[in-house]
Amino acid sequence: MASLQDIAQQYVALVLAVGPHDPDYVDAYYGPPAWKAAFEAQPRTLTELGLEVDQILRRLGSLDHSLPAGAEREALMSGWRKTFLIKQLGALRTHLAGLQGLRLPFDEESVALYDAAAPARAEGEFQVVVDVLDRALPGAGTVLDRYVAFRSQFIVPPERLSRTFEAAIGACRERTVRALPLPASEAFTLEFVTGKSWSGYNWYQGQFRSLIQVNTDLPVHIDRALDLAAHEGYPGHHVHNVLLEQHLVGERGWMEFTVYPLFSPQSLVAEGIANCAADMAFPAPERLAFERDVLFPLAGLDPSTATRYATVSALVEKLSHAGTEAARRLLDGRLDDEGAVQWLEEYALHSRPRAEQRVRFIRQYRSYVINYTRGRELVEGWLARTSGEDRARRWANLGDLMSSPRLASSLQ
Ligand SMILES: [Zn+2]
Repeated sequence: MASLQDIAQQYVALVLAVGPHDPDYVDAYYGPPAWKAAFEAQPRTLTELGLEVDQILRRLGSLDHSLPAGAEREALMSGWRKTFLIKQLGALRTHLAGLQGLRLPFDEESVALYDAAAPARAEGEFQVVVDVLDRALPGAGTVLDRYVAFRSQFIVPPERLSRTFEAAIGACRERTVRALPLPASEAFTLEFVTGKSWSGYNWYQGQFRSLIQVNTDLPVHIDRALDLAAHEGYPGHHVHNVLLEQHLVGERGWMEFTVYPLFSPQSLVAEGIANCAADMAFPAPERLAFERDVLFPLAGLDPSTATRYATVSALVEKLSHAGTEAARRLLDGRLDDEGAVQWLEEYALHSRPRAEQRVRFIRQYRSYVINYTRGRELVEGWLARTSGEDRARRWANLGDLMSSPRLASSLQ
Protein backbone atom coordinates (compact mmCIF):
# COMPACT_ATOMS: atom_id res chain seq x y z
CA MET A 1 0.00 0.00 0.00
CA ALA A 2 1.25 3.47 -0.92
CA SER A 3 2.25 5.89 1.84
CA LEU A 4 1.99 9.68 1.88
CA GLN A 5 5.74 9.69 1.33
CA ASP A 6 5.42 7.64 -1.92
CA ILE A 7 2.61 9.87 -3.13
CA ALA A 8 4.65 12.97 -2.34
CA GLN A 9 7.40 11.67 -4.58
CA GLN A 10 4.93 10.93 -7.40
CA TYR A 11 3.56 14.46 -6.98
CA VAL A 12 7.04 15.97 -7.44
CA ALA A 13 7.58 13.88 -10.59
CA LEU A 14 4.21 15.00 -11.98
CA VAL A 15 4.82 18.69 -11.32
CA LEU A 16 8.23 18.45 -12.99
CA ALA A 17 6.69 16.67 -15.98
CA VAL A 18 4.36 19.65 -16.60
CA GLY A 19 7.39 21.97 -16.85
CA PRO A 20 8.10 21.32 -20.56
CA HIS A 21 4.43 22.10 -21.35
CA ASP A 22 4.44 25.45 -19.52
CA PRO A 23 7.62 27.44 -18.81
CA ASP A 24 5.91 29.45 -15.99
CA TYR A 25 4.69 26.41 -14.06
CA VAL A 26 7.71 25.08 -12.15
CA ASP A 27 8.80 28.10 -10.15
CA ALA A 28 11.46 26.30 -8.11
CA TYR A 29 12.95 22.82 -7.78
CA TYR A 30 15.83 21.79 -5.57
CA GLY A 31 15.18 18.07 -5.08
CA PRO A 32 17.33 15.26 -6.49
CA PRO A 33 18.55 16.10 -10.03
CA ALA A 34 17.91 12.46 -11.01
CA TRP A 35 14.13 12.96 -10.59
CA LYS A 36 14.23 15.76 -13.14
CA ALA A 37 16.40 13.73 -15.51
CA ALA A 38 13.90 10.83 -15.28
CA PHE A 39 10.96 12.72 -16.78
CA GLU A 40 13.17 14.52 -19.29
CA ALA A 41 14.14 11.11 -20.65
CA GLN A 42 10.46 10.15 -20.99
CA PRO A 43 8.25 13.14 -21.83
CA ARG A 44 4.50 12.56 -21.32
CA THR A 45 1.48 14.17 -22.98
CA LEU A 46 -0.99 16.37 -21.12
CA THR A 47 -3.62 13.62 -21.37
CA GLU A 48 -1.27 11.02 -19.87
CA LEU A 49 -0.39 13.39 -17.05
CA GLY A 50 -4.08 14.07 -16.35
CA LEU A 51 -4.83 10.36 -16.03
CA GLU A 52 -1.92 9.94 -13.68
CA VAL A 53 -3.15 12.79 -11.46
CA ASP A 54 -6.58 11.11 -11.26
CA GLN A 55 -4.94 7.84 -10.24
CA ILE A 56 -2.86 9.42 -7.50
CA LEU A 57 -5.85 11.36 -6.18
CA ARG A 58 -7.79 8.09 -5.90
CA ARG A 59 -4.88 6.50 -4.02
CA LEU A 60 -4.68 9.51 -1.71
CA GLY A 61 -8.40 9.37 -1.01
CA SER A 62 -8.18 5.78 0.17
CA LEU A 63 -5.12 6.39 2.30
CA ASP A 64 -5.36 5.86 6.04
CA HIS A 65 -3.02 8.23 7.85
CA SER A 66 -4.06 7.48 11.42
CA LEU A 67 -1.38 8.24 13.99
CA PRO A 68 -0.70 7.03 17.50
CA ALA A 69 -2.82 8.78 20.15
CA GLY A 70 -1.13 11.68 21.91
CA ALA A 71 0.68 12.93 18.82
CA GLU A 72 -1.62 15.95 18.43
CA ARG A 73 0.76 18.26 16.61
CA GLU A 74 1.89 15.37 14.43
CA ALA A 75 -1.71 14.47 13.62
CA LEU A 76 -2.37 18.07 12.64
CA MET A 77 0.75 18.26 10.46
CA SER A 78 -0.05 14.95 8.81
CA GLY A 79 -3.65 16.02 8.16
CA TRP A 80 -2.49 19.31 6.63
CA ARG A 81 0.03 17.40 4.55
CA LYS A 82 -2.61 15.10 3.09
CA THR A 83 -4.96 18.04 2.39
CA PHE A 84 -2.04 19.92 0.84
CA LEU A 85 -1.31 17.06 -1.59
CA ILE A 86 -5.01 16.61 -2.47
CA LYS A 87 -5.50 20.34 -3.20
CA GLN A 88 -2.19 20.76 -5.02
CA LEU A 89 -3.00 17.75 -7.21
CA GLY A 90 -6.55 19.02 -7.81
CA ALA A 91 -5.08 22.34 -8.96
CA LEU A 92 -2.61 20.49 -11.18
CA ARG A 93 -5.58 18.71 -12.79
CA THR A 94 -7.24 22.07 -13.49
CA HIS A 95 -4.02 23.56 -14.82
CA LEU A 96 -3.59 20.61 -17.21
CA ALA A 97 -7.13 21.21 -18.49
CA GLY A 98 -6.23 24.90 -18.91
CA LEU A 99 -3.18 23.96 -20.97
CA GLN A 100 -5.52 21.87 -23.14
CA GLY A 101 -7.66 24.98 -23.75
CA LEU A 102 -10.28 24.91 -20.97
CA ARG A 103 -11.17 28.45 -19.83
CA LEU A 104 -13.16 28.65 -16.58
CA PRO A 105 -14.94 31.73 -15.25
CA PHE A 106 -12.58 33.80 -13.08
CA ASP A 107 -13.96 32.76 -9.67
CA GLU A 108 -14.22 29.07 -10.59
CA GLU A 109 -10.66 29.13 -11.85
CA SER A 110 -9.32 30.79 -8.70
CA VAL A 111 -11.12 28.32 -6.42
CA ALA A 112 -9.81 25.37 -8.44
CA LEU A 113 -6.24 26.69 -8.64
CA TYR A 114 -5.81 28.65 -5.40
CA ASP A 115 -8.44 27.32 -3.00
CA ALA A 116 -10.14 30.74 -2.70
CA ALA A 117 -12.26 33.33 -4.50
CA ALA A 118 -11.93 37.12 -4.26
CA PRO A 119 -15.25 38.85 -3.46
CA ALA A 120 -16.50 41.02 -6.36
CA ARG A 121 -16.27 44.77 -5.86
CA ALA A 122 -18.08 47.64 -7.57
CA GLU A 123 -16.65 50.86 -9.03
CA GLY A 124 -18.25 52.96 -6.28
CA GLU A 125 -15.92 51.57 -3.61
CA PHE A 126 -12.87 52.78 -5.55
CA GLN A 127 -14.48 56.03 -6.67
CA VAL A 128 -14.83 57.16 -3.03
CA VAL A 129 -11.06 56.81 -2.55
CA VAL A 130 -10.27 58.41 -5.92
CA ASP A 131 -12.47 61.39 -4.91
CA VAL A 132 -10.49 61.85 -1.68
CA LEU A 133 -7.25 61.81 -3.70
CA ASP A 134 -8.80 64.23 -6.20
CA ARG A 135 -9.25 66.75 -3.40
CA ALA A 136 -5.85 66.01 -1.81
CA LEU A 137 -3.66 66.37 -4.92
CA PRO A 138 -2.99 69.95 -6.11
CA GLY A 139 -2.50 71.23 -9.67
CA ALA A 140 -4.31 71.02 -13.00
CA GLY A 141 -5.44 68.03 -15.06
CA THR A 142 -7.16 64.76 -14.17
CA VAL A 143 -6.63 63.14 -10.78
CA LEU A 144 -4.47 60.51 -12.52
CA ASP A 145 -2.30 63.22 -14.16
CA ARG A 146 -1.85 64.90 -10.79
CA TYR A 147 -1.08 61.65 -8.99
CA VAL A 148 1.49 60.65 -11.63
CA ALA A 149 3.09 64.15 -11.41
CA PHE A 150 3.12 64.01 -7.60
CA ARG A 151 4.61 60.53 -7.60
CA SER A 152 7.32 61.44 -10.11
CA GLN A 153 9.10 63.32 -7.28
CA PHE A 154 9.70 59.98 -5.56
CA ILE A 155 11.48 58.07 -8.32
CA VAL A 156 14.78 56.49 -7.25
CA PRO A 157 17.48 57.50 -9.80
CA PRO A 158 18.84 54.34 -11.51
CA GLU A 159 22.37 54.88 -10.19
CA ARG A 160 21.03 54.92 -6.61
CA LEU A 161 18.77 51.84 -6.91
CA SER A 162 21.30 49.31 -5.75
CA ARG A 163 22.36 51.05 -2.51
CA THR A 164 18.73 51.95 -1.67
CA PHE A 165 17.53 48.37 -2.14
CA GLU A 166 20.51 46.89 -0.28
CA ALA A 167 19.71 49.13 2.70
CA ALA A 168 16.02 48.19 2.64
CA ILE A 169 16.82 44.48 2.41
CA GLY A 170 19.43 44.77 5.19
CA ALA A 171 16.95 46.46 7.54
CA CYS A 172 14.15 43.96 6.80
CA ARG A 173 16.60 41.11 7.34
CA GLU A 174 17.84 42.50 10.65
CA ARG A 175 14.31 42.83 12.00
CA THR A 176 13.32 39.38 10.75
CA VAL A 177 16.26 37.42 12.16
CA ARG A 178 15.74 39.12 15.52
CA ALA A 179 12.24 37.60 15.61
CA LEU A 180 12.66 34.33 13.69
CA PRO A 181 15.66 32.00 13.89
CA LEU A 182 16.99 31.36 10.37
CA PRO A 183 19.81 29.05 9.24
CA ALA A 184 23.17 30.88 9.33
CA SER A 185 23.89 30.13 5.66
CA GLU A 186 20.72 31.75 4.25
CA ALA A 187 21.51 34.40 1.64
CA PHE A 188 20.25 35.95 -1.57
CA THR A 189 21.56 37.63 -4.70
CA LEU A 190 19.93 40.85 -5.94
CA GLU A 191 19.69 41.61 -9.66
CA PHE A 192 18.09 44.37 -11.71
CA VAL A 193 16.41 43.16 -14.92
CA THR A 194 14.19 44.44 -17.78
CA GLY A 195 11.55 43.08 -20.15
CA LYS A 196 9.25 41.41 -17.58
CA SER A 197 5.51 41.65 -16.79
CA TRP A 198 6.19 41.64 -13.01
CA SER A 199 7.93 44.27 -10.86
CA GLY A 200 9.89 41.89 -8.64
CA TYR A 201 10.49 38.13 -8.39
CA ASN A 202 12.07 35.73 -5.94
CA TRP A 203 13.62 32.63 -7.49
CA TYR A 204 14.33 30.13 -4.74
CA GLN A 205 17.35 27.97 -5.46
CA GLY A 206 17.52 25.63 -2.47
CA GLN A 207 20.19 25.39 0.23
CA PHE A 208 18.64 28.52 1.76
CA ARG A 209 19.49 30.73 -1.23
CA SER A 210 17.37 32.97 -3.46
CA LEU A 211 17.85 35.13 -6.51
CA ILE A 212 15.78 38.30 -6.11
CA GLN A 213 15.14 40.23 -9.34
CA VAL A 214 13.79 43.77 -9.56
CA ASN A 215 12.35 44.94 -12.88
CA THR A 216 13.42 48.42 -13.97
CA ASP A 217 11.30 48.71 -17.16
CA LEU A 218 9.27 51.42 -15.38
CA PRO A 219 10.59 54.06 -12.96
CA VAL A 220 11.05 52.58 -9.47
CA HIS A 221 9.47 54.64 -6.69
CA ILE A 222 10.99 54.87 -3.23
CA ASP A 223 8.24 52.88 -1.44
CA ARG A 224 9.04 49.89 -3.67
CA ALA A 225 12.40 49.46 -1.92
CA LEU A 226 10.87 48.43 1.39
CA ASP A 227 7.87 46.70 -0.22
CA LEU A 228 10.04 44.51 -2.43
CA ALA A 229 12.70 43.91 0.25
CA ALA A 230 10.01 42.56 2.56
CA HIS A 231 7.83 40.83 -0.08
CA GLU A 232 10.60 39.04 -1.99
CA GLY A 233 13.05 38.75 0.90
CA TYR A 234 12.48 39.24 4.63
CA PRO A 235 10.13 37.97 5.98
CA GLY A 236 8.47 37.25 2.60
CA HIS A 237 9.19 34.66 -0.11
CA HIS A 238 12.86 34.05 0.68
CA VAL A 239 12.25 33.41 4.39
CA HIS A 240 9.14 31.33 3.67
CA ASN A 241 11.09 29.07 1.31
CA VAL A 242 14.02 28.83 3.73
CA LEU A 243 11.71 27.70 6.56
CA LEU A 244 9.89 25.19 4.35
CA GLU A 245 13.23 23.73 3.27
CA GLN A 246 14.62 23.70 6.80
CA HIS A 247 11.63 22.26 8.65
CA LEU A 248 9.63 20.25 6.11
CA VAL A 249 12.28 19.02 3.66
CA GLY A 250 15.32 18.92 5.97
CA GLU A 251 13.80 17.74 9.25
CA ARG A 252 10.93 15.62 7.92
CA GLY A 253 12.02 14.60 4.44
CA TRP A 254 8.78 15.89 2.89
CA MET A 255 9.99 16.04 -0.69
CA GLU A 256 6.87 17.71 -2.09
CA PHE A 257 8.30 21.01 -0.82
CA THR A 258 11.36 20.74 -3.05
CA VAL A 259 9.15 21.73 -5.98
CA TYR A 260 6.96 24.80 -6.27
CA PRO A 261 4.20 24.76 -8.91
CA LEU A 262 3.25 28.39 -9.45
CA PHE A 263 -0.41 27.88 -10.37
CA SER A 264 -1.42 26.11 -7.16
CA PRO A 265 -2.98 26.82 -3.74
CA GLN A 266 0.50 27.09 -2.25
CA SER A 267 0.79 30.45 -4.07
CA LEU A 268 -2.13 32.05 -2.26
CA VAL A 269 -0.51 31.47 1.12
CA ALA A 270 2.92 32.46 -0.26
CA GLU A 271 1.72 35.77 -1.77
CA GLY A 272 -0.52 36.43 1.23
CA ILE A 273 2.45 36.10 3.59
CA ALA A 274 4.68 38.14 1.27
CA ASN A 275 2.10 40.94 1.10
CA CYS A 276 1.92 41.07 4.92
CA ALA A 277 5.72 41.09 5.15
CA ALA A 278 6.35 44.86 5.04
CA ASP A 279 3.89 45.47 7.89
CA MET A 280 5.51 42.67 9.90
CA ALA A 281 9.03 44.07 9.55
CA PHE A 282 8.01 47.73 9.69
CA PRO A 283 4.73 48.78 11.35
CA ALA A 284 3.59 52.08 9.74
CA PRO A 285 5.21 54.69 12.09
CA GLU A 286 8.55 52.83 12.11
CA ARG A 287 8.38 52.47 8.36
CA LEU A 288 7.91 56.20 7.84
CA ALA A 289 10.85 57.01 10.12
CA PHE A 290 13.14 54.52 8.36
CA GLU A 291 12.16 55.66 4.87
CA ARG A 292 12.51 59.34 5.77
CA ASP A 293 15.79 59.06 7.69
CA VAL A 294 17.58 56.33 5.75
CA LEU A 295 16.08 55.50 2.35
CA PHE A 296 15.14 59.03 1.17
CA PRO A 297 18.72 60.32 1.69
CA LEU A 298 20.21 57.21 0.03
CA ALA A 299 17.94 57.77 -2.97
CA GLY A 300 18.80 61.49 -3.04
CA LEU A 301 15.19 62.48 -2.22
CA ASP A 302 14.03 65.26 0.11
CA PRO A 303 13.20 63.67 3.52
CA SER A 304 10.78 66.49 4.38
CA THR A 305 8.39 65.12 1.71
CA ALA A 306 8.27 61.58 3.17
CA THR A 307 5.23 62.05 5.41
CA ARG A 308 3.12 63.45 2.60
CA TYR A 309 4.15 60.62 0.30
CA ALA A 310 3.26 58.02 2.96
CA THR A 311 -0.19 59.60 3.44
CA VAL A 312 -0.98 59.58 -0.28
CA SER A 313 0.44 56.05 -0.70
CA ALA A 314 -1.76 54.74 2.13
CA LEU A 315 -4.81 56.08 0.29
CA VAL A 316 -3.73 54.56 -3.03
CA GLU A 317 -3.13 51.24 -1.25
CA LYS A 318 -6.91 51.12 -0.69
CA LEU A 319 -7.27 50.77 -4.48
CA SER A 320 -5.35 47.49 -4.61
CA HIS A 321 -8.54 45.46 -5.12
CA ALA A 322 -9.23 47.45 -8.30
CA GLY A 323 -6.44 45.43 -9.95
CA THR A 324 -8.13 42.14 -9.02
CA GLU A 325 -11.43 43.49 -10.30
CA ALA A 326 -9.85 44.51 -13.62
CA ALA A 327 -8.52 40.95 -13.96
CA ARG A 328 -11.93 39.44 -13.26
CA ARG A 329 -13.62 41.63 -15.89
CA LEU A 330 -10.85 41.13 -18.46
CA LEU A 331 -10.73 37.33 -18.12
CA ASP A 332 -14.53 37.00 -17.98
CA GLY A 333 -14.69 38.94 -21.27
CA ARG A 334 -16.47 41.99 -19.85
CA LEU A 335 -13.49 44.23 -20.70
CA ASP A 336 -11.02 43.99 -23.59
CA ASP A 337 -7.33 44.85 -23.10
CA GLU A 338 -7.84 48.55 -23.77
CA GLY A 339 -10.90 48.59 -21.48
CA ALA A 340 -8.87 46.99 -18.70
CA VAL A 341 -6.07 49.54 -19.16
CA GLN A 342 -8.62 52.35 -18.83
CA TRP A 343 -10.23 50.70 -15.77
CA LEU A 344 -6.80 50.50 -14.10
CA GLU A 345 -6.10 54.15 -14.95
CA GLU A 346 -9.44 55.23 -13.54
CA TYR A 347 -9.84 53.07 -10.42
CA ALA A 348 -6.32 51.88 -9.54
CA LEU A 349 -4.65 55.19 -10.58
CA HIS A 350 -2.07 53.31 -12.65
CA SER A 351 -0.17 55.38 -15.22
CA ARG A 352 -0.79 54.11 -18.75
CA PRO A 353 2.56 52.24 -19.01
CA ARG A 354 1.95 50.63 -15.61
CA ALA A 355 -1.63 49.70 -16.53
CA GLU A 356 -0.35 48.14 -19.77
CA GLN A 357 2.29 46.18 -17.83
CA ARG A 358 -0.44 45.01 -15.45
CA VAL A 359 -2.68 43.81 -18.29
CA ARG A 360 0.27 41.83 -19.68
CA PHE A 361 0.71 40.32 -16.19
CA ILE A 362 -2.99 39.39 -16.02
CA ARG A 363 -2.86 37.80 -19.49
CA GLN A 364 0.20 35.77 -18.44
CA TYR A 365 -0.82 34.75 -14.90
CA ARG A 366 -4.63 35.03 -15.06
CA SER A 367 -6.50 34.54 -11.72
CA TYR A 368 -3.12 34.31 -9.93
CA VAL A 369 -3.72 38.00 -9.16
CA ILE A 370 -6.16 37.13 -6.35
CA ASN A 371 -3.26 35.66 -4.37
CA TYR A 372 -1.95 39.15 -3.62
CA THR A 373 -5.20 40.68 -2.40
CA ARG A 374 -7.29 37.75 -1.13
CA GLY A 375 -4.15 36.03 0.15
CA ARG A 376 -3.20 39.11 2.13
CA GLU A 377 -6.71 39.39 3.61
CA LEU A 378 -6.69 35.74 4.69
CA VAL A 379 -3.21 35.79 6.20
CA GLU A 380 -3.78 39.15 7.90
CA GLY A 381 -7.13 37.98 9.31
CA TRP A 382 -5.58 34.75 10.58
CA LEU A 383 -2.64 36.59 12.20
CA ALA A 384 -5.04 39.04 13.87
CA ARG A 385 -7.27 36.23 15.20
CA THR A 386 -4.38 34.11 16.49
CA SER A 387 -2.09 36.87 17.78
CA GLY A 388 -4.11 40.02 18.49
CA GLU A 389 -1.82 43.00 19.03
CA ASP A 390 0.97 40.93 20.56
CA ARG A 391 3.88 41.41 18.14
CA ALA A 392 6.07 38.61 19.52
CA ARG A 393 3.16 36.21 19.19
CA ARG A 394 2.46 37.48 15.68
CA TRP A 395 6.05 36.70 14.63
CA ALA A 396 5.89 33.26 16.27
CA ASN A 397 2.61 32.45 14.50
CA LEU A 398 3.94 33.72 11.17
CA GLY A 399 7.02 31.50 11.62
CA ASP A 400 4.77 28.55 12.39
CA LEU A 401 2.62 29.23 9.31
CA MET A 402 5.77 29.42 7.15
CA SER A 403 6.95 26.07 8.52
CA SER A 404 3.75 24.07 7.97
CA PRO A 405 1.91 22.75 4.88
CA ARG A 406 -1.16 24.95 5.22
CA LEU A 407 -3.48 26.28 2.52
CA ALA A 408 -6.18 28.96 2.36
CA SER A 409 -9.06 26.85 3.68
CA SER A 410 -7.17 26.24 6.96
CA LEU A 411 -6.83 30.01 7.50
CA GLN A 412 -10.54 30.87 7.34
ZN1 LIG B 1 5.26 37.47 -4.62
